[in-house]
Amino acid sequence: MIKKYKNSIIGASIVAFVLGMINIKVRLDGVKPMLLGERFLPNIGGWIEIALISVYAAYVIHKMITTRNTAKWRKLTWTIFSVVFFSQLILALLGFDMFLMKHSFHLPIPALIIGSSIYTLQFGFMPILFLSTVILSGPAWCSQLCYFGALDLQASSGLGKPQKVKNKALLKSTFLIIVISVAVLLRVLNLSYLWTSISAASFGVAGIFVILFYSRKKKMMYHCTTFCPIGTVLQYVKYINPFRMYIEQSACTLCMQCTPTCKYDALNPEDIKAGKPGLSCTYCGDCVSSCHSSSIKYKFFNVKGQKAQNIWIVLTIVLHAIFLALARI
Ligand code: SF4
Ligand code: SF4
Ligand code: SF4
Repeated sequence: MIKKYKNSIIGASIVAFVLGMINIKVRLDGVKPMLLGERFLPNIGGWIEIALISVYAAYVIHKMITTRNTAKWRKLTWTIFSVVFFSQLILALLGFDMFLMKHSFHLPIPALIIGSSIYTLQFGFMPILFLSTVILSGPAWCSQLCYFGALDLQASSGLGKPQKVKNKALLKSTFLIIVISVAVLLRVLNLSYLWTSISAASFGVAGIFVILFYSRKKKMMYHCTTFCPIGTVLQYVKYINPFRMYIEQSACTLCMQCTPTCKYDALNPEDIKAGKPGLSCTYCGDCVSSCHSSSIKYKFFNVKGQKAQNIWIVLTIVLHAIFLALARI
């Protein structure tokens, strides 16, 4: 019995411990509670929220590991996170400042993790948070932790075959260079906060345009695989983490059945022949169960296959649950 739920128990315990420590620390410091439950029901609400989120983490880990239907559960839980995040954001914008963490509003655009670091010449909270997730679970930020990516996944879903992204490398580098150049320019010209906000908001609106018109039409996550500079940076920095995905070439029949399951354009014939998903792979796991010969595998140091995938799922869902609890931070 315990063995069957081992991964869920481990995941839920980590979530409860981390959120519990945060709750205690915030109360000792006497600052605004980070957990929403605590803000609405002081002294007890935070603990209720921690209990609920821990049970949620345990359930999701159990489902993702035992049902092998990773794609369904990833999409559902990622969407829940995004809905919670944007609902809190909208409520905060409507004047319910209980939903704001720091009494001030931040534009929720992933590109700002890079742009604002360059503009302010400071390595702030978001870049540290982003890098921490990379250290813990590689590219999980872009598979289940970012509020924006779920919109791209939803837009790219539905009937139809995903279309290969053309000129991917060129598009990726162009948008990354644009974000860096604009941030440098705003810094050098010392333009006001208004101009930085207009630039950031324009990039965010352009991103929504890409999601609505390209991702939806091409059935591929165009925004995440071409437009967003965080996705571009992540495809390289993810290698500071020991997790890897590979395709066992001795078992792979080159049937290409897995190709349409990848919304990140990482399972093109050239990737499969090379024995590993392409650079844009986020280790999401959607493709694993699509392979009739179980050739697509996770690797974590010397641990391979199902065990490595289980470790990945526990780590990723722990982060996902903690992010869900803290959402508007
Ligand atoms: S590529 Fe950008 S929008 Fe997509 S999941 Fe990653 S950070 Fe979020
Ligand atoms: S589905 Fe499996 S066997 Fe077929 S190409 Fe993909 S990895 Fe190879
Ligand atoms: S190759 Fe597989 S694990 Fe990698 S992004 Fe595509 S579907 Fe996800």
